[in-house]
Amino acid sequence: MKHLAILGSTGSIGTSALDVIRLYPDKFRILALTAANNIALLARQIEEFEPEMVAVLNETKALELGKCLMGKCKPEILYGEEGFAVAAAWKRSDMVLLAMVGSAGLRPALAAIEAKKQIALANKEALVMAGEIVMEKARSNGVDILPVDSEHSAIYQCLRGNRTKDFKKIFLTASGGPFRNRPFETFADITLEDALNHPTWNMGHKITIDSATLMNKGLEVIEAVHLFGVSPEQIEVLAHPQSIVHSMVGFKDGTVMGQMGVPDMKGAIAYALSQPGRLNLNTDFPDFSAIGSLTFETPDVIKFPSLSFAFEACKQGGTLPAVMNAANEIAVQAFLGKQIGFLKIFKLISTTMELHTRIDNADLSGIIEADHWARETAKSLI
Ligand code: MG
Repeated sequence: MKHLAILGSTGSIGTSALDVIRLYPDKFRILALTAANNIALLARQIEEFEPEMVAVLNETKALELGKCLMGKCKPEILYGEEGFAVAAAWKRSDMVLLAMVGSAGLRPALAAIEAKKQIALANKEALVMAGEIVMEKARSNGVDILPVDSEHSAIYQCLRGNRTKDFKKIFLTASGGPFRNRPFETFADITLEDALNHPTWNMGHKITIDSATLMNKGLEVIEAVHLFGVSPEQIEVLAHPQSIVHSMVGFKDGTVMGQMGVPDMKGAIAYALSQPGRLNLNTDFPDFSAIGSLTFETPDVIKFPSLSFAFEACKQGGTLPAVMNAANEIAVQAFLGKQIGFLKIFKLISTTMELHTRIDNADLSGIIEADHWARETAKSLI
């Protein structure tokens, strides 16, 4: 029996994880759940999974949740950053699924590591902001970080059974998003609805917009650099519109291993929860003859400069990746709120990065300070 804490349980990854866990009540028991805002869904999850504690965004939400709980389960209710950190380090849990969106994932990630919990990591921003600090802390505490992002799960699975010194290169695949074939001249006319219409993956709003700008892939490049200890030069991004090959690894003898499956996050979530074993999910295999061909192409970085921003941020390092990430979060929020157009997302990120004076070897407070600076700067540019 594995005891779990799930942070971000009402989001896309969180609900998919609960779908997996629901199938195996003999294998998993949930001790802690957290959600920011969706109190009604969290209340239903509490009734079903009966956790010992929950945490929500703030005191108002905590009071609202208290009123919603009519059943027999009355977990301890905490809130705010402190509450999320308590959930991440919950005493009797073995493993934490970090599925909250954005920079909010960093402090819980560190809290979980300090409490020596195994981590299933779906939040990529924690590694983008403070990859060196997070990975070093994980190493010194003997904590495994198991990737839940489908690409990184694929890479992790391909590396399994191979020696690290034999591996040379990562082929990081991307669906290419909804605008891969759209002429750049029409990008100014892209609406929020266009951008939320992802061709292959069904995900939360932030990551869907990140997929449309290819910033999601940029964040994943930085995530891969930290998770697998490679240089950005060892990563090649490939647009693969069928989203069947979730990523590939190249070895020194020229062998390439890839991991395939239908685009459904349950596969990667279940693997992180159960590795090295696999759970029976009754998922269909890809219908290869119906799909016909799998295609790969180099993404157009003129149309999608986010990829160049991310490679540059990763090469320069220091506080620059955190600044890029924070500017992106503000830009995506503004785009979702219809305050700015699609092209302005790129402009906000690049201008904020240009205005930043990079600090190398920043400690955690230095990174958080750079994050705050970037948010204020990006907001002032809207
Ligand atoms: Mg991904």
